[in-house]
Amino acid sequence: MKSVAILGGGPAGAFAAEQLASAGLRVQLFDEKLAWEKPCGGGLTYKAYNQYPFLIENSTRKRFVTQTTLAAPRAGEVALTLDEPLLIYSRFDLNNMLLERAGRAGAQVEKARVKEMSRYGSGWQIRTSSGTADADFCIVATGARNPLRDVGTELHPEDAMSALGYYVPGDQERIDIQFLPRLEGYIWVFPRCGHLSVGICGKGEPAASLRKRLEQYMTEKGISWKGASFYSHLLPSLETGAWKRNRVAGEGWMAVGDAAGLVDPITGEGLYYAIRSGDLAARSLLAEVGVAERVEHYRRLLRHDFTADLEFGSRLAKRIFHGRFLCGGVPSRIVQFTRRSPRFSDIMRDLFAGKQPYQELKRRLLKNLNGSLYDIGMSVGFSRLVPRKAG
Ligand SMILES: Cc1cc2nc3c(=O)[nH]c(=O)nc-3n(C[C@H](O)[C@H](O)[C@H](O)COP(=O)(O)OP(=O)(O)OC[C@H]3O[C@@H](n4cnc5c(N)ncnc54)[C@H](O)[C@@H]3O)c2cc1C
Repeated sequence: MKSVAILGGGPAGAFAAEQLASAGLRVQLFDEKLAWEKPCGGGLTYKAYNQYPFLIENSTRKRFVTQTTLAAPRAGEVALTLDEPLLIYSRFDLNNMLLERAGRAGAQVEKARVKEMSRYGSGWQIRTSSGTADADFCIVATGARNPLRDVGTELHPEDAMSALGYYVPGDQERIDIQFLPRLEGYIWVFPRCGHLSVGICGKGEPAASLRKRLEQYMTEKGISWKGASFYSHLLPSLETGAWKRNRVAGEGWMAVGDAAGLVDPITGEGLYYAIRSGDLAARSLLAEVGVAERVEHYRRLLRHDFTADLEFGSRLAKRIFHGRFLCGGVPSRIVQFTRRSPRFSDIMRDLFAGKQPYQELKRRLLKNLNGSLYDIGMSVGFSRLVPRKAG
């Protein structure tokens, strides 16, 4: 294999292009917009910049945020200081940096819309808005609204969230997360360089109703959306069955990032998985195995690396947003436990950092339950009733 066409130049496509071009393959990347302000919070977790240090070691504008507040109905809010800051970029800046890296590695980066990909011998012919191109292999990185129907995840309505919001002039030092009644999703306020990204994501609820909830929240918080630019997009959030039948690769192609549905179904984190899957796709293509095995190799790498955990997360999502614990909603309990229990706060910090796999979450929560309840008891004034050694 000598040539690879990358369809889409967001984080997933751009990073795959950089890796493949660095290894000496002829790489052509097509994106209809190139760098653009894709609707997104732009937040990268510790897991992402720890694995890919270039995300912090560069001169692109960015912010590190360590202060967060979590709020839920009837539980008020709680402040949480993160050990590992969240790194926040504007998406224009992040995409631009990744595309420049791909170009410097030798990828040919072209502004063109991909209209069609069709089999041509053992390779592909790609028809774009500016002509045609041939390639031995295709990487599909066209995002959640992938227009190429025969490749990548088939997103059914139940496998996606609506995500929308406003870029609001202003500044604050902290991230705000607000859980809402009867919503599988949440509101966020992310401070970015020069403005705030205020948004909401939710599953199973029309965008208009999510927008209403967001505007009500903004009114209550005194954040004006008049004159602020509005954004909306789709966020893959696969149900468990969809993870099992997910179409991530086929003969002559692999899908990466949102085009492969690779987003955390609870938090909506997708940037890390976009970059990571671009990396794993490149590694599979460069592996010393036959062409057909490379596709299987990619599926196995994904599963081993993170999709098994995200599939497990998809089973937890409904229990987290709609479940009840000790006669209260789980989101409210999360806020209350974070307020009262240092042990539980540590778990939340690790979740924010991306250091707590979902597959091990239940075991850790159960292991810490006695301690967390003890912390809570002590903090609400039961200290005189509970013997000291009980902790
Ligand atoms: C509102 C919102 C907030 C989010 N906040 C966060 C966050 O804070 N942190 C986080 O980790 N994740 C967040 N996400 C998820 C994150 O934005 C995505 O997971 C990530 O952008 C996926 O990267 P990608 O490269 O796969 O796709 P994209 O970034 O969507 O890139 C796809 C690219 O393909 C191009 N393209 C599409 N079709 C064609 C075509 N036919 N021809 C040529 N080019 C094409 C597009 O122009 C685009 O540049 C958020 C998502 C939303 C919607």
